[in-house]
Amino acid sequence: MTTHETIAYDFLAPPQIVFGWGRRREVGSLGRTLGCRAFLIGGLPEGIGEKLIDEIGGLLQAEGVDPIALATIRHEPEVADVDRVAADLRGHGAAEGDFLLGIGGGAAIDLAKAAAAMATNTQSTTVKDYLEGVGAGLTLEQKPLPVLAMPTTAGTGAEATKNAVISSYDPPFKVSLRDPRMVPRIALLDPELSVTVAPDVTAGGGMDAITQLIESYISRRAKPIPQALSIQGLQLAVPAIAEAVENGASQGAREAMSHAALLSGMALANSGLGFAHGVAPALGIHCRVPHGVACALMLPAALRVNREVRRDELAHLAHLLFGVDNRRSPEQAVDVLIERIEQLCDRVGVPRRLSQVGVSREKIPDIVKSSRGSSMKANPRDVSDEELTTILEEML
Ligand SMILES: [Zn+2]
Repeated sequence: MTTHETIAYDFLAPPQIVFGWGRRREVGSLGRTLGCRAFLIGGLPEGIGEKLIDEIGGLLQAEGVDPIALATIRHEPEVADVDRVAADLRGHGAAEGDFLLGIGGGAAIDLAKAAAAMATNTQSTTVKDYLEGVGAGLTLEQKPLPVLAMPTTAGTGAEATKNAVISSYDPPFKVSLRDPRMVPRIALLDPELSVTVAPDVTAGGGMDAITQLIESYISRRAKPIPQALSIQGLQLAVPAIAEAVENGASQGAREAMSHAALLSGMALANSGLGFAHGVAPALGIHCRVPHGVACALMLPAALRVNREVRRDELAHLAHLLFGVDNRRSPEQAVDVLIERIEQLCDRVGVPRRLSQVGVSREKIPDIVKSSRGSSMKANPRDVSDEELTTILEEML
């Protein structure tokens, strides 16, 4: 922000954030403030998932909340998943006094948010009709059921956002169901839950958070509170991500990454994203590239694309994150930022070339066509189809 700009903004965040090592044990008393029946949606690996769901169920029961295991999801949610879970909820007569508890990565939390919205909005039985740009253009008339979000990975920040990302492979799209009332009522973050997350998932999630923090910081819709959050998130995540990947039991690294991911969610929900998040869903639906990996892959290109129009902001990040001397030219500082981000991707084992994640030249026209969602619109400058095609071809 420069001083002569007029400042006007809204800021949206979960009304209650509960953060701390071991604090999952408070889920019962927190849940009771939302309702008497908790519909659980889990997204954890087999073996760990059942044990944790049992633990959470017991903690809820101890406080007089009836836990009902509703669904398990281990892939990014699709239209059919949301429609099925919402129908189950309606079958249970879910209404006032009930809430959803999403526990897992972004997939489980987004599925909980979308199902909570579809349970009370019944103009159509498919979520597709409510999705941005692909369906009948319906909007939510009724407020969704409350959601308690418990992330077990550090990445998407879905515990703090007002949208749920929903995929379809035929026809191919990956877009959002979005409404300010979809922000989870309680975000309960226990970083201890992330100690068992595999190194590659930690790397992808962590790079997603870093990408979200940078893209929202330089977005066309960047706003002052999220920019402050982005700085704090990046100062925590950039030094911690390698430690979290290499030494999963590190409390300090896990706490830093969980907090940074939460901040990235608040930042993106208010400021939007940009180029990398414009292309990432297209890589997901056409080549099944996981979201975090896709973001990390596209981040250096996003920095290059925007380096002219956001030179001072990027130079500032280079100074804060990598100690680049303020007396160096902003161009040199941005060079260092890009180089260090690429080194970080290498260090945590994220691929750098599109061919490494199964993208072929023939797929590029489809990827370009599917990259025009709300994130690309928030990128600080327009990128033409021709320019995007060239960038992707050079990354093969
Ligand atoms: Zn993301």
